Amino acid sequence: MSVRLLGFDIDNFSFEGAIEHAMELLKDNKVSQVVTINPEMFKHAEKNTDFKNIVEDAEMVIPDGIGVKIALWLKGESAERIAGIDFARRLLEKCAEESLPVGIIGAKEEIISLATENLKKEIENLNIVYWHNGYFQNDDEIYEGLKEKSPRLILVAMGSPRQEEFIYRAKSVLNPALMVGIGGSLDVWSGVTKRAPKIYQKLGLEWLYRTVSQPERFKRIFPTLPLFLLKVIMYRGK
Ligand code: UDP
Repeated sequence: MSVRLLGFDIDNFSFEGAIEHAMELLKDNKVSQVVTINPEMFKHAEKNTDFKNIVEDAEMVIPDGIGVKIALWLKGESAERIAGIDFARRLLEKCAEESLPVGIIGAKEEIISLATENLKKEIENLNIVYWHNGYFQNDDEIYEGLKEKSPRLILVAMGSPRQEEFIYRAKSVLNPALMVGIGGSLDVWSGVTKRAPKIYQKLGLEWLYRTVSQPERFKRIFPTLPLFLLKVIMYRGK
């Protein structure tokens, strides 16, 4: 089931429902894109038609963050917030269980190296067949590497909109796979960035913890959230 929000169809799944659907897409005979959407991405899509098209074309758009959850609630929909990092982690576990190969791209070299080491230790049978840091100039080289190894799940952690654009172009180039943009997840999996304590996660206040511990994030995020919610209220029917 999906809900229309400021011109986009947002998939309204339970966490397990989202995983199930994602695994079906992963086994499809094509490249599918999952966007974990937040208010900043809505804002970017308003100014950038290419980005808007990418989100519209995505096979799955799931609400990441309390902002989108409140917006859906303002429209009378109760949505389960699906944190991108938890969603991606569960997909890694599923792939390990089903012996499906995985690719991971993004973050600085030492971060991705630590993150993949930790993941391999924590998830039994995880088969990471391709990984690369997120600071490269030539996308085609990365696509070539991915084609050679053919992972079925590809996590891309380069921040938005870079990761969404990279995944979108990959759709016409790569072998069948599910590709998910996962923002700063590798920083957390590497152990270098701490995730908000559980209580913040439960209350949906992870953004508050992150903005307080990273003040430069505050400047970026603060005006976006109230303006986004105001728009949702103004354009309720859309
Ligand atoms: N990053 C990258 N390549 C770039 C720019 C950023 O791999 O060209 C990485 C960066 O190292 C970090 C992640 O992308 O690990 C961005 O995380 P952030 O929390 O800013 O993303 P958000 O979730 O806010 O989109």
